[in-house]
Amino acid sequence: MDGLYLHVPFCAQKCRYCDFLSFGHQSEERMRQYVQALEKEMLLLTQYSNDKPRTIFIGGGTPSFLPDFLLEKLLSAVRKYFVSPALVEFTIEGNPESLNEEKLQLLRAFGVNRLSIGVQSCSTESLQLLGRRHTFAEVVNIFAAARKAGFTNINFDLMYGLPGQDLSSWQQCLRRVLALGATHLSLYQLNIEERTLFGRWLREGKLTEFDDEMALAMYRLAKSMLTEAGFHQYEISNYAQDNFECEHNKIYWRTTMDYLGLGLGAHSFQDGRRSSNPVKWQDYVVPLLNNILPKREEETLTVKEAMAEMIFMGLRMNQGVSLVEFEQRFDRKLVSVYEKAITKCQKNDWLTLNEGYLRLTEKGRVLGNLVFVEFV
Ligand code: SF4
Repeated sequence: MDGLYLHVPFCAQKCRYCDFLSFGHQSEERMRQYVQALEKEMLLLTQYSNDKPRTIFIGGGTPSFLPDFLLEKLLSAVRKYFVSPALVEFTIEGNPESLNEEKLQLLRAFGVNRLSIGVQSCSTESLQLLGRRHTFAEVVNIFAAARKAGFTNINFDLMYGLPGQDLSSWQQCLRRVLALGATHLSLYQLNIEERTLFGRWLREGKLTEFDDEMALAMYRLAKSMLTEAGFHQYEISNYAQDNFECEHNKIYWRTTMDYLGLGLGAHSFQDGRRSSNPVKWQDYVVPLLNNILPKREEETLTVKEAMAEMIFMGLRMNQGVSLVEFEQRFDRKLVSVYEKAITKCQKNDWLTLNEGYLRLTEKGRVLGNLVFVEFV
């Protein structure tokens, strides 16, 4: 397998915009049961296979929210079943308020070499509005502590298009973040999902949709500031300094590499088959505590769907979609399958086709979904 993902669905509280599979306000006993279930899943799955990943990503939720003894239990199991000399990247996600020096040292001791911190905003008002529990001062402190603990590969997740945010506050935030020295930045526009508190506020008129033009201006500003600061954009939302691209995420975007997902609702792609774990606690945790693997839901893509997926995901990356890889996988030429769409997109200056890759132009990247629709 190329990558291993482990899902830890606990957070101190649910953020107001969050639509991820995560729970706030859980008891320690529930977290203990969950970690025990994850350990069982690792044990049962590795009984017949000795396959080790190149990348490991513990995400959530907020994995750093686990109490130290549970985090240690989880990391020990990962080390026992999956860590090998083949491992090149080991990431964990955390929030500033649930990380501290001891936890950072614990992570380093277990070989975690990449830290992804949920910063989201530099403004106290925005952080409060989002339902986050930290301040930017805590980000500064935890970044220094992470460096001290030996982390050299640190990502910040940031959001733009927030209620009340303008271009100048976004610029100021980017300046403050760049001054700290993270090696990777993931920048996402706030997307208000129906099932969240923000979704309800939108329906009730307490929030309004963010202006598209302003969001575009923020995207462009970020791109130019980050490029000037020595970052390169390698995926629509992701920027890295040289040698700091996230290897794990590239496995998902390439769509041809295998990954195994463990934990509640985690997705896997192995031997051309997609599957996912149950999203309900009783369907995931209970069977595992009884030594039974939970029933995975299998999903088979048609050839047409698999082709479209390879295009969507590939176009998100600056590298683009490899014509050779497409042909090797589907035994058909990409340019003949999508002749009409490619001609139209080239005419509109949305796509380029050269050096064996199909790529979005700058204009195409900004339009994103409009381009993808052509390939459906
Ligand atoms: S910390 Fe992340 S996963 Fe947890 S509630 Fe907030 S946005 Fe969702």
